[in-house]
Amino acid sequence: MSIKLTPQKKQAVKAEILSLLSSLRDEIGSELVDARTAHWGQSVHDHGEEAAADLETGINLAHVSRHLKEVRECQAALSRLENGTYGICVDCGEEVELNRLAANPVSPRCLSCQAQLESDYPVAKVSSL
Ligand SMILES: [Zn+2]
Repeated sequence: MSIKLTPQKKQAVKAEILSLLSSLRDEIGSELVDARTAHWGQSVHDHGEEAAADLETGINLAHVSRHLKEVRECQAALSRLENGTYGICVDCGEEVELNRLAANPVSPRCLSCQAQLESDYPVAKVSSL
């Protein structure tokens, strides 16, 4: 099962995701500068350091960690695009609604699976991949 993507549409989706990725990286970069975190890429999830940080830095790191999650979603969407499973719900295998993809091109799930996920895990707003 796969949804029909013309090569042009596929390119457009890919370009959209890549631009999303680059703006996420910009945001993460400036958040890390704000947080005065020198070791980009290695200490974001270091809870020992986080505990020593002030409140503002903690908030910044929460943003960074959310953005990193979005980066992973973008990368996952790109690989689904490459292997031909883009637009297929990762849970039920049905097509993800087109208006949903238009609103968020990296949505990994259809509306009903996402709603199910959010009712199971109300705190986790976005997917875990
Ligand atoms: Zn589904």
